[in-house]
Amino acid sequence: MDEVRRRLALEREQALTRLASLTGDYDAVVAASLDTNADDEHDPEGATIAFERSQIGALVRQVRHHVAEVGAALDRVDAGTYGVCEVCGHDIGAPRLEALPAARTCIRCASARS
Ligand SMILES: [Zn+2]
Repeated sequence: MDEVRRRLALEREQALTRLASLTGDYDAVVAASLDTNADDEHDPEGATIAFERSQIGALVRQVRHHVAEVGAALDRVDAGTYGVCEVCGHDIGAPRLEALPAARTCIRCASARS
């Protein structure tokens, strides 16, 4: 299980690094939008910034979610339930866990739900 822990820790570190760079960008975009004139309609920059802000906001939410998922996976390692599908209780399988270390469900249940 040490290998799993190491991989999850690395995954979380990468996600947090990404989050830090995203929120850095996000803050910069928000700051830029505060500096611009409130008159968006006659300011093509205004629309661009609003678009960038919503794009980055969505990415930030995604990465935060991923960090939480990886944290939950680490909790499951501690609890001894890591690698067990939360839906059917079967093994998730090494290849899937290698591709998606934070996976909660086996591929069968994951495709049934989507
Ligand atoms: Zn399953």
